[in-house]
Amino acid sequence: MPAPGESLVRVKLAALCNTDLEIIRGYKKFQGILGHEFVGEVEESGNSALVGKRVGGDINIGCGACLLCKRGLKNHCPHRRVPGIQDKDGTFAEYITLPEQNLYPVPDRVADEEAVLAEPLAAALEVTSQVHLHPASRVAVIGDGKLSYLVTQVLSLTGCDLTVVGKHRDKMAGLREFARTAFLEEVKISPRFDTIVECTGNEQGLQLAGELVRPRGTIVLKSTYAGEPKINPAAWVVKEITLVGSRCGPLDGALRLLEKKQVHVHPLLGRRYSLADYRTAFSTRHQLKPVFDPIL
Ligand SMILES: [Zn+2]
Ligand SMILES: [Zn+2]
Repeated sequence: MPAPGESLVRVKLAALCNTDLEIIRGYKKFQGILGHEFVGEVEESGNSALVGKRVGGDINIGCGACLLCKRGLKNHCPHRRVPGIQDKDGTFAEYITLPEQNLYPVPDRVADEEAVLAEPLAAALEVTSQVHLHPASRVAVIGDGKLSYLVTQVLSLTGCDLTVVGKHRDKMAGLREFARTAFLEEVKISPRFDTIVECTGNEQGLQLAGELVRPRGTIVLKSTYAGEPKINPAAWVVKEITLVGSRCGPLDGALRLLEKKQVHVHPLLGRRYSLADYRTAFSTRHQLKPVFDPIL
């Protein structure tokens, strides 16, 4: 049942991402229904303009009353709820509820299969609101997974001098359209990049970020870390590095990029599974690709 101010949304598609797998490994100690990437259709809402609309959702639900919420920082509300991540059931379900103000209509030109990835695309877009990138910026993205694929495309729109460091041949081939690629084992270790966007979520990626960033450069941490990376930040202190944590981003901006076909997400979509088949989806080796379809 939707709470006051919430809408009832029938989930059309929900995607499984690395964060879901990290949560299973213990990140956030969340218990409940997983899933936070979705596209759905509003069935009930106090806002009649939303009823029947296809929507994506901003997943951070602030309390609305604390100092941070009042300053427009609901994503950092200490009492926030996040479907499938914190204190609220997620999107691997037939229905979810979300506050009206968290719902964003999906433009007609955006297919369900694109809209389901608006949330991670918004997270990729967040980098551009945190770090000023311009055509003269030398930028490296570390990692070649889903998040890296989205971050690389978004950053390439700035015209910056972009390199992706990764290790999977097939994924790197797909990234070559948007950036220079360098395989991990061949990458020249020298502190030459103004900005590094770390998308691996592992210790090796973090270590490499510290080695590739120039003195007084910036490392953007775009991944969550389930373990506890053993990194001595002394070298970062000496290089006077700026560290930027980066999480969720603007869903409306992501939907605009999808509407204008400025970002491609289809290569990230894999097999579809019905909700009843969730065990297969979670246990598959292509863990970043399953898309759930609750209506099958
Ligand atoms: Zn996700
Ligand atoms: Zn709050």
